[in-house]
Amino acid sequence: MHTVTAEIWTTLSTVVDGPDGTCLVVDPAITPAEVDALADALDATGRRVVAGFSTHPHWDHVLWSPRWPGVPRWATRTAVDALRRTRTSDLAKADDAAPGHDPDLFGVLTTLGADGTTVPWDGPAVRVLPHRGHCPGHAALVLPEAGVLLAGDMLSDLEIPLLDVDAEDPVGDYVAALDLLEAAAEADGVQVLVPGHGHVGDRAELARRLAVDRAYLDALVHGRTPDDSRLGTPWLAQEHARHVERLGRQGV
Ligand SMILES: [Zn+2]
Repeated sequence: MHTVTAEIWTTLSTVVDGPDGTCLVVDPAITPAEVDALADALDATGRRVVAGFSTHPHWDHVLWSPRWPGVPRWATRTAVDALRRTRTSDLAKADDAAPGHDPDLFGVLTTLGADGTTVPWDGPAVRVLPHRGHCPGHAALVLPEAGVLLAGDMLSDLEIPLLDVDAEDPVGDYVAALDLLEAAAEADGVQVLVPGHGHVGDRAELARRLAVDRAYLDALVHGRTPDDSRLGTPWLAQEHARHVERLGRQGV
């Protein structure tokens, strides 16, 4: 398992090795040049991309390289449906922040099969953990053999929990997702945490991030100002203000 970091939002892309030089690429990002550099690195080490996975249907997680044609890019059914509705606005966001992606390759996702619990490929087992923290159709991945959790847009050291403010119960969904990830990490002996944005962490760091995310949510629902250093980042302070406004409307 390897990760590369893009400049915007400290975004992590992950490569999982399979048999005979094949590999699975999770959330390749972000600028066309960065995705191209990832394709170069895979070529240079003799790897062939045979599968992709998008952890969730936000623009920075549904990008791709023209150098990996015809490869299935798996996602949950809910994610595929959600992106179908928001594709135009998501593509506009991609054009704005990371111009130059081929629109025909943007968000071309394939729905996981009926059971949807594993990524269908010949490499090491990859378990899919769907939940609806952050947004509908989000899924984390667990590699039980390697003891790795790919958390998508959760468990970042840099970002506060980013709620789906359009959901009926944004905090409940998020807490349930944290519980799910913690239980899976425990069951599968996870030793390495890879968030979608931020830095890779070990088991102790996973426990720390679960604690600070829960502390953030607890302060939020009780109307306290969270004691959270991540709020020093202006755009995250703005997201926090949106959360407060959303929960106020709910009358919590
Ligand atoms: Zn993201």
